[in-house]
Amino acid sequence: MNIDLSRRGFLRLAGAGAAATTLGAMGFGAAEAAVQAHVRDFKLATTTETRNICTYCSVACGIILYSKGDIAAGETAELIHVEGDADHPTNRGTLCPKGAALKSFVKSETRLTHPRYRAPGSDRWQEVSWDEAFDKIARALKDDRDANLIERNEQGVPVNRLTTTGFLAASATTNETAWATWKVVRSMGIVGFDNQARV
Ligand code: SF4
Repeated sequence: MNIDLSRRGFLRLAGAGAAATTLGAMGFGAAEAAVQAHVRDFKLATTTETRNICTYCSVACGIILYSKGDIAAGETAELIHVEGDADHPTNRGTLCPKGAALKSFVKSETRLTHPRYRAPGSDRWQEVSWDEAFDKIARALKDDRDANLIERNEQGVPVNRLTTTGFLAASATTNETAWATWKVVRSMGIVGFDNQARV
């Protein structure tokens, strides 16, 4: 029989069974049964695990978010624990102090959870929907590209450069996402492109 068991799953099983099997090997059968009857579930056993990437820096460590609450049943999922992902090749379960404090970041009262827009000449920000934000960005980018794309240089060589719009990408992305972002930005001719790894 094949058993598909991750390293974390193996450790969880091994920890729960260690005390009982040790007693059993010493001949304390009844004691083993009593231990097994009183083994409590781990606090994280009933949570939902969501894999993600730490938002802070370009190392992009793998994390696991543990939340309670069934979203499919209309409940609000509440984050109760964050830890490093032992199966992630970048950090193999480790986190630096910033990553280890991610739960505080997620639950911070000052964390922005919606896009904000400041109209030209205004001194205040207003909350907008994601659709509205994407529409504004697309409109501004298209208008700027139509007006300012440099198709040829002084020697008449095709260059297709857009130097009046810049793009700043996040570091908390996978290689695949970073590759796709690069392709999209360069396909529009944008020259000023950087990501958070250099911030
Ligand atoms: S855990 Fe630390 S090293 Fe890893 S991505 Fe987050 S901030 Fe960077």
